[in-house]
Amino acid sequence: MSANAIVNTLKRKSIQSLKEATRPAFSDVQITFLGTASAQPSSTRNHSALALRLGSDVWLFDCGEATQHQLQRSAVKMGKIEKIFITHTHGDHIFGLLPLLAGILNGAGGAADGTEDPRARIDVDNPVVEIYGPLGTRAYVRTGLKYTQSLLGLPYVVHELRLPWDPQSGDHTNLPRHRAESPNGRNIQQVDGVWPNIYQDPRVSVSAAPILHSVPCVGYVVTESDVPGKIDPKKYIPELQRTNTPMEVMRRLQQGESVELSDGTVLHGPPRRAGRKLCILGDTYDPSAIVPLALNADLLIHEATNAHLPGIDPDTKPEDTHESIEARTRSRGHSTPQMAGVFGKRIGARQLILNHFSARYAGNDDVNEESKKIMTAIGALAAQEFGSEVACARDLMSVNIALPSPPP
Ligand SMILES: [Zn+2]
Ligand SMILES: [Zn+2]
Repeated sequence: MSANAIVNTLKRKSIQSLKEATRPAFSDVQITFLGTASAQPSSTRNHSALALRLGSDVWLFDCGEATQHQLQRSAVKMGKIEKIFITHTHGDHIFGLLPLLAGILNGAGGAADGTEDPRARIDVDNPVVEIYGPLGTRAYVRTGLKYTQSLLGLPYVVHELRLPWDPQSGDHTNLPRHRAESPNGRNIQQVDGVWPNIYQDPRVSVSAAPILHSVPCVGYVVTESDVPGKIDPKKYIPELQRTNTPMEVMRRLQQGESVELSDGTVLHGPPRRAGRKLCILGDTYDPSAIVPLALNADLLIHEATNAHLPGIDPDTKPEDTHESIEARTRSRGHSTPQMAGVFGKRIGARQLILNHFSARYAGNDDVNEESKKIMTAIGALAAQEFGSEVACARDLMSVNIALPSPPP
């Protein structure tokens, strides 16, 4: 590993441990849609990928072709990506992963004979990027790196979420590990039909569940730990002054701790309150298995590949009905806006955003009246079932997710 790379890795680690020690709420939590197309990309929609920004950390969900280009067009910093969660191994969700890894991990096409490449020594026990995905994700990455003869300067690891009928151990490929691949990739087994806490630190955890699609597919739930309650300084400062208590104590109170003053008075900080919960689904016609994890999510991102829009979508055939469109959509492993709305209501989601649209629904609804009419109608179909307004994702759209209001 080059000196620069080592310094960067150390920097990342010390920043991480400092953050974990202080455990504040994330300054902000934001989703940026990098690609919102299903199957075929178009001039207005790229293949699937979205970035979740947790403060300054960036996690990616899916990585379709040309995700790197989309990142460059967005405000998301590619070098900040620490984790990549793959929902399923369909190409439109994973074809962008290898070029992105080469980009983040200081990749190159090799060194001429007789010259030593600084990438030859890599600390594989400290992966810079962690990838999570279903069976086949590890083999896909390893195979792609091997046959493109790609060298990487920084290490990665792949953790696989194994279904009960998958092999529970092994790598699903006979190729030896790439020299940048950590040997510490886990094969994560289900517990009661889900994969609980596949990642956890003091501020946030991720769980996952299988969702039904035409191939094995995963939905993810990201849960922020509880966060400090709102503190009213007027309630505490006179007491601290009266007892000559150092003002630093306010920091402990802010974290929800109780503090005993010199005269025996005990001050209680405001109770901590729930953090944010996000449910990010891959392609699906039935995500029921994730319900126990996703209840009361602050945000649900659900696909809505096809819709029946008579009188609005000029490509509607006269013989199409809502039922026939839904049946065809389900048979291909996908959902309609109404199905997304029903699921959002079922889990009590606070906000629903639709994603993953057929190429016939252009994603330039911010500047094109015709597209706006169609996307507004798609949102309205979901809203009928969901019970409140539903947004449709557009490439490079960003959404801030506010903390849930504290209970009255
Ligand atoms: Zn898809
Ligand atoms: Zn798919």
